[in-house]
Amino acid sequence: MKVLLVGSGGREHALAWKIAQSPLLTALHAVPGSDAIGELATCHDGSVSDIDGLVELARKIEADLVVVGPENPLCDGLADRLRQAGIATFGPSGLAARLEASKAYAKDFYARHKVPSAGYGTFSDAAEAKAFLDRVEPPYVLKADGLAAGKGVVILDDRAEAEAEIDAFLSGKFGKASKTLVIEEFMAGEEVSIFALCDGETVLYCGAAQDHKRVGEGDTGPNTGGMGAYSPAPIATPELIDTAMKTIVEPVARGLAAEGHPFQGVLFAGLMVTKDGPKVVEFNIRFGDPECQVLMMRIDSDLLPYLLATATGALGEMPPITWSPDPAITVVLAANGYPGDYRKGSVIKGVTEANRMEGVQVFEAGTGRNARGERIAAGGRVLNVTASGETLHYAVERAYAAIDQIDWPEGFCRRDIAWRALRTH
Ligand code: ATP
Repeated sequence: MKVLLVGSGGREHALAWKIAQSPLLTALHAVPGSDAIGELATCHDGSVSDIDGLVELARKIEADLVVVGPENPLCDGLADRLRQAGIATFGPSGLAARLEASKAYAKDFYARHKVPSAGYGTFSDAAEAKAFLDRVEPPYVLKADGLAAGKGVVILDDRAEAEAEIDAFLSGKFGKASKTLVIEEFMAGEEVSIFALCDGETVLYCGAAQDHKRVGEGDTGPNTGGMGAYSPAPIATPELIDTAMKTIVEPVARGLAAEGHPFQGVLFAGLMVTKDGPKVVEFNIRFGDPECQVLMMRIDSDLLPYLLATATGALGEMPPITWSPDPAITVVLAANGYPGDYRKGSVIKGVTEANRMEGVQVFEAGTGRNARGERIAAGGRVLNVTASGETLHYAVERAYAAIDQIDWPEGFCRRDIAWRALRTH
């Protein structure tokens, strides 16, 4: 099977690593890929925002399956165009992708389908939005409607600050994305991410993980794209997963199909485990980054037939995915200064040595190679040091031992990834 993978980050490196292990694979292509992905796939120049170019490439290489990593091209209709061209695609249509692309749409959708989520209001008028604050208890949760790279959510205790933030959002703090604003009730609890493949009809559980969004240890400081993740998450008990699948994930998949937008890809449910049970914080329409890295490490099954079955509507014929019992953790190494300003181009040494360690796999999220062939930093989140072990403690020890092999003074990581799970075990 010829596969084209769209994307270039750590998530896509992990997908490429897993797909490359499939005996069904005859050729793996990536666009644009990366130097690291290039060790597993043939990389093609191109941009993930050039929909025409991506379709043309898929045609040219006669891809049997296109796997789309990031959300933006999906929200822009890449999967629609590929399917129109007769190419099997792992990733939802543009209309199904609105679940992630528009929080106002998503909240109305959950309400229509009785999917448990926080109470909310949607506003484009500042006075109405401010009046709504009378009806919710602080802390106030303000969200830009559109995609804002994980930065479009502000949670504030202070009423005056919340009102000022409403003005900032509606006057275009996040451009078009915040011209509409969602205000939500605050949900208290612990967060967990649940993943499920969906072929338009059949839904198949595909793992649970917890991530760490904040840059600082103890979950402090500004939000980031994610500083680490681990799986399984002790909070995701079989009962919780069962409840979440039945009350949240399956109704969402059914609702999308019933409204004429069957979902083909991976549903990523961001949940809050409240005292009243799991409720939706958000749905994403692609694998999480860095959650994907720990899932790929833990999946025992050959992933490729599942990706193809998702794309072709054949998931009902597939057995459940099998998992390694060993927990896995990924620790993100980021460039000093991230998520603020940071420098690119510093040399990173020791990755090969780290990769040689048992149970360790370093996925590369933002690296390149300089003229001397050395690995250099080329982004904010740079390396995803992933490790598995017989226990979570062991996986954590291995990941940090691997990090200690890496010589990169211009980077940092959190030293407490998985602290919640380690606390309870
Ligand atoms: P992401 O980077 O996860 O895609 P996003 O910008 O799409 O983020 P959300 O996931 O909706 O935004 O919210 C970001 C974070 O804010 C959540 O992970 C959660 O910690 C917190 N949050 C969002 N909504 C609520 C809520 N109603 N109650 C409590 N916390 C919330």
